[in-house]
Amino acid sequence: MRLILLGPPGAGKGTQAQRLIAKHGIVQLSTGDMLRAAAAAGTPVGLRAKSIMERGELVPDDVVVAIIADRIGQPDARRGFVLDGFPRTAAQAEALDRLLAERGLKLDGVIELKVDEGILLKRIEKRVADMTARGETVRADDTPEVLKGRLSAYRAQTAPLAGYYAGRGMLKSVDGMATVDEVTAAIYRHLGSSAARAPKPRRGKARLARKIPKRGASSAGGARKRSVAKKRKNKPQKAKNRTRRRLTRAR
Ligand code: ADP
Repeated sequence: MRLILLGPPGAGKGTQAQRLIAKHGIVQLSTGDMLRAAAAAGTPVGLRAKSIMERGELVPDDVVVAIIADRIGQPDARRGFVLDGFPRTAAQAEALDRLLAERGLKLDGVIELKVDEGILLKRIEKRVADMTARGETVRADDTPEVLKGRLSAYRAQTAPLAGYYAGRGMLKSVDGMATVDEVTAAIYRHLGSSAARAPKPRRGKARLARKIPKRGASSAGGARKRSVAKKRKNKPQKAKNRTRRRLTRAR
């Protein structure tokens, strides 16, 4: 399964991504997390991104596209992934289309978490308070000032992607203001309905392809199995008891 989670900062993309990966055995690809890890490790990319992130602006497209191109090619992403925070611009969405096409991969859907912007600020304030209470390090960009910048970057550059994917019939919108469980349930309803539309494999063809003989059909293997069953059936009772005693002793 390959999905995109679309939504402004604080919409709950990370929380839903965690649930999706646990259920489907796929990986979460969060460009924000990857950039923060690169910044913490002090790599050239990380150092370049750090100050941009702290200002709430977007890191250049070529940087994040290169990160994603490398990441989706790794073995743990083979079963699928949830993209969280990518793509964030039209150029990134087009680059993703190319990356997937080159690998013969398809997206299963784009889930948009729709939220009330007025409430996002409160959500992030709560997240900061909870993290501080747990003694965790708070993100440098989780301040009311920077959040305003992140929201305006989202409105200007990322929100239009909803139209991009809607035009391809891939967009599923979910009410991100509902409870975490309700949002998860709504996502599954969308995923379930697209799975239900997928064509079912034709049984006859599947048998042919896998060369599985129908029950009762004659074949060398089948004949062998039938003759073994016959021998077992005809085994004298004394021999059967001997076998049973031997097995009991072995236990
Ligand atoms: P949030 O969605 O809460 O704003 P993220 O962790 O996704 O947070 O991103 C944090 C910051 O990392 C962004 O504000 C931006 O500077 C940078 N970033 C993450 N993903 C991208 C991306 N796809 N393109 C450009 N910048 C990105």
